[in-house]
Amino acid sequence: MQATVPCPNCKTAIPVDMMGLSQGTSFECGSCQSVISLAAPNRQASLNAMDALKTLASEMTVKKDADE
Ligand SMILES: [Zn+2]
Repeated sequence: MQATVPCPNCKTAIPVDMMGLSQGTSFECGSCQSVISLAAPNRQASLNAMDALKTLASEMTVKKDADE
C-alpha cells in the first residue's frame, strides 16, 4: 500500500509503503535526506488500522439494485 507523508523537516511528500512503515522501516526524504520512521506505539496504531481495513474489506458486499 503506497502513501505519502509530509517530511517533518521540509514538508516534501515522501512516498512510503504503509506496510513497511508499520513494520518499522525507515524512509529517507529525497529532498533533505531526513530519515523518518514510526515510533513503536504508532506502528501498533497503524497495524490496528490496517487490520480494521482488512476486516471492512472482508465484510463488503456487492450492492445490487433491488428495484430492477
Ligand atoms: Zn525533507
